[in-house]
Amino acid sequence: MLPDCFTPDTPAVAGARRVWQSQSVIPLAVLLFGLVIGSFLNVCILRIPAEKSIILPASSCPKCGKVIAPYDNIPVLSWLILGGKCRNCKTKISAMYPAVELLTGLLFMACYFVFGLTLESLKWAIFAAMLVVLTITDLRERILPDAVNFFGLGVGLLFSFFTKPLDGSALWIANRWFDFPPPQPVLSFVDAILGAVAGSGLLWVVAEGYFRLRGREGMGLGDVKMMAAVGAFLGLKRTLMTVLAASLLGSVIGIVLIAVSKKGRDYELPFGTFLGAGALLVLFFGTPALQWYQSLLAVK
Ligand SMILES: [Zn+2]
Repeated sequence: MLPDCFTPDTPAVAGARRVWQSQSVIPLAVLLFGLVIGSFLNVCILRIPAEKSIILPASSCPKCGKVIAPYDNIPVLSWLILGGKCRNCKTKISAMYPAVELLTGLLFMACYFVFGLTLESLKWAIFAAMLVVLTITDLRERILPDAVNFFGLGVGLLFSFFTKPLDGSALWIANRWFDFPPPQPVLSFVDAILGAVAGSGLLWVVAEGYFRLRGREGMGLGDVKMMAAVGAFLGLKRTLMTVLAASLLGSVIGIVLIAVSKKGRDYELPFGTFLGAGALLVLFFGTPALQWYQSLLAVK
């Protein structure tokens, strides 16, 4: 007779095993992980511009100050169950919280579907998380915090040593200067540096140009530093695509705002928000867009 631990699976255990081994459990786990990280990003969005600690104390209701219990702090679900109100004082809780959580969850799942369970995927998930914080913080307060920008620049440069060179600009330069190309980590790091310099340089020129033309600041140094971080992740070509996409988005939305509201002209557009949205588009659609562009050049 077999010992107990060798008894065949009960239907329930066999079912659980099937679910675990099926293809859908990993994306679901990635989604849940993204929701939890999104909850942390909400804390970053609220506290980093106020220069408060992102670790302590525990979250509390901004109106009545009551600490939020763990069972009321479940991403998306708690907000839905409580009807978007504080359990204690019934003050309305912004829909930004579940929206940021859901957005982060979906972005993480998209990273998994495009890049699989790889180091690349981790890099792009961190990139997406950084962009969520910058995009929403700029939209709310017109601030792109240094802490986030410099964190992004550091992480982007660090990851470049461990991930494949994507851009090709460093290889292009190396082929002209050296008989044989340098090792991959060097190419990848140079790509990251080129992206950071191009992104921040381009934004600095635009900011400086605007200041000289209009005599007032139209764009802060926050955008310049943000594009150094974005550039370190994306490399030269995708960074230029990001600025192009952000300018197009900003122009279209700016024109719509001026058309529909009287104060549209005085409304300070959150350019960091457009840069963040542009960078997310480039993250997922940059490679096919570049291939399409290069095929156009090849025809001539
Ligand atoms: Zn309350």
